Amino acid sequence: MINFIKQLLDWIYRKKCYICGKDAFSEPICINCLEEIEINQYNYHKKIHSFEIYSAGIYTANMRKIIKGLKYHRKKDLAKPIASIMHSYWKNLNISSEDFEIVPMPLYLKREKERGYNQTCLIADEFSKLTGYTVNNKIAKRVKNTEPQYKLSKRERIENLKDAFKIVKTEYTGKKLLLLDDISTTGTTLDELKKTFENEGISVYYALVAANPVSESSFH
Ligand SMILES: [Zn+2]
Repeated sequence: MINFIKQLLDWIYRKKCYICGKDAFSEPICINCLEEIEINQYNYHKKIHSFEIYSAGIYTANMRKIIKGLKYHRKKDLAKPIASIMHSYWKNLNISSEDFEIVPMPLYLKREKERGYNQTCLIADEFSKLTGYTVNNKIAKRVKNTEPQYKLSKRERIENLKDAFKIVKTEYTGKKLLLLDDISTTGTTLDELKKTFENEGISVYYALVAANPVSESSFH
C-alpha cells in the first residue's frame, strides 16, 4: 500500500529531466544525466598560500547546464543535484570529517533582488542537509557591484574586487569556515573574501565550488 502511494505520488509529482527531458520522477534531473557528470580527482583545484580551493567537477556539458539553469533560468530545484555532486566529491576528502560552517559567496544585494535569490545560498542549504554543517549567510556581505571576473585581466580582477566584501564580525560563531561558490576559475574572488575575513582576524583555510572551467576561455 505504501509502495502504491509512493508510486502514485511519484506519478503526480513526476518531473522531466532538465537535461534530457526524460522522466526524472521527483528529481530535477534523471539518474543517467546525474551519473554522466564526472567528479574531479580528490585533490584541491587551487592552492593560494595556505588557502585550499576544492572543485567538485569540470564546468562542461551537464554540469554547465545545471549551473546555468540554476543561475540564469530560475530553476531553483537544480541546487539539489549540484549539492549532491559536491557532496559525492567532498565526502572523499579527509577534511570532510571536520565540522564546518558554510559561508555562501554573497551577491550584491541589488543583483540578488533582480535574480530573486542567491544561487549559492540555495546550494549551501542543500549541501547543509547532506553534511549537517550549519550555514552562515549573514557574516559576509558584498558591498560593491563588481563586474563578472571572467571578462577581466588579472590586474583588473584584483582592482575590481578591491573593497568588494564586508564582514559582519558579530555573526561569527567561532566555527571553522568553509567558503562555498558555484564556479571558480582563478580563485581570485574566493581569495579576496578569505583575505577580508583575515583582516577581521578570522582565518579561513578551505573553499569548495561546484565546478571549475577547463580553461578561462571555456567559461561560456
Ligand atoms: Zn536526464
